[in-house]
Amino acid sequence: MIITLAAHANPAEIQGILTERGLWITQYHSDQNQVQFLVSPSSMSVDKNELLSIDGISDISTPPQPYPELMKQTTQVTIGQKTIGINATPVIIAGPCSIESAEQIAIIAEHISQCGVTMLRGGIHKPRTSPYSFQGYGEKALQWLNDASKKYHLSVITEALGVEELDMIKDVVDVIQIGSRNMQNTPLLRAAGKLNKPILLKRGMAATIKEWLFAAETCLLAGSGHVLFCERGIRGFDPQTRNLLDLGAVSLLAHVHSMGVIVDPSHAVGRRDLLLPLSQAAVACGASGIMLEVHHDSKTAKSDGPQALSLDEFTMLANKIQMKSDAS
Ligand code: PEP
Ligand code: MN
Repeated sequence: MIITLAAHANPAEIQGILTERGLWITQYHSDQNQVQFLVSPSSMSVDKNELLSIDGISDISTPPQPYPELMKQTTQVTIGQKTIGINATPVIIAGPCSIESAEQIAIIAEHISQCGVTMLRGGIHKPRTSPYSFQGYGEKALQWLNDASKKYHLSVITEALGVEELDMIKDVVDVIQIGSRNMQNTPLLRAAGKLNKPILLKRGMAATIKEWLFAAETCLLAGSGHVLFCERGIRGFDPQTRNLLDLGAVSLLAHVHSMGVIVDPSHAVGRRDLLLPLSQAAVACGASGIMLEVHHDSKTAKSDGPQALSLDEFTMLANKIQMKSDAS
């Protein structure tokens, strides 16, 4: 929304009045003839006529919508047996960081399904920081993932590391994950969008919310059925946690833009002891779900062992989150 002031207005005074009403002014523009405020979308409802009745405001206009496809997107999406999004019960997505064997993914899939979870995650190729770390078992892992998901009736989410992987995963996955390192890989966003499947779009580790929204818009413009956002922590300055979980961004997307956001506390903090409080915090601030890494024997995990919950720890966490959701 753009608010134009009348020539006689005192900008500081009007700014005070608008701020007091909860409006969020993000830009100020002034030339000899005119002062304008650019007001960000807000979770507060705004009555334009009431604003126009304030002495000193001469005009209110709406700039062209920067994310038209996103704004048209429904606030919920159904994946397998679950509806995910605004006002739906928060979901849990769980599974290992990487799929390491048929046995490993089957044990984890069986366990999470017994906990009432309906979506299985797991990487087939891993986007590792070091090229010498475990890179994933690729097509073999996809087969193991498919077998486990069928056996335990779970929906599947896995990451497409590049355009060339989409063909391989498209018939197995219910949701295509775009990883943090790929959030601004436009060819991948477009190609994944063309498959007309839901996309889980992880936030780049140094991406602004605006860049994240535009990346989602790119997927939708290419044909994606739905984009869910995934906050997985941004680059912080303190190595005591792996990343910095930006719950402000989660609230903003959920409460101001009505977008479904999944929070991934595992990659955000990188340590399993903090996953319960952060999962609870995520749900409290409007997340539509959480995604957690789980391993039945994390000391042997080929990637991200320190942040994987054991099966028992997962049961406890899932019970706490689900009980709270049922009660609300
Ligand atoms: C993952 O979820 O497996 C992953 C690699 O996460 P991110 O892209 O957030 O680092
Ligand atoms: Mn991981």
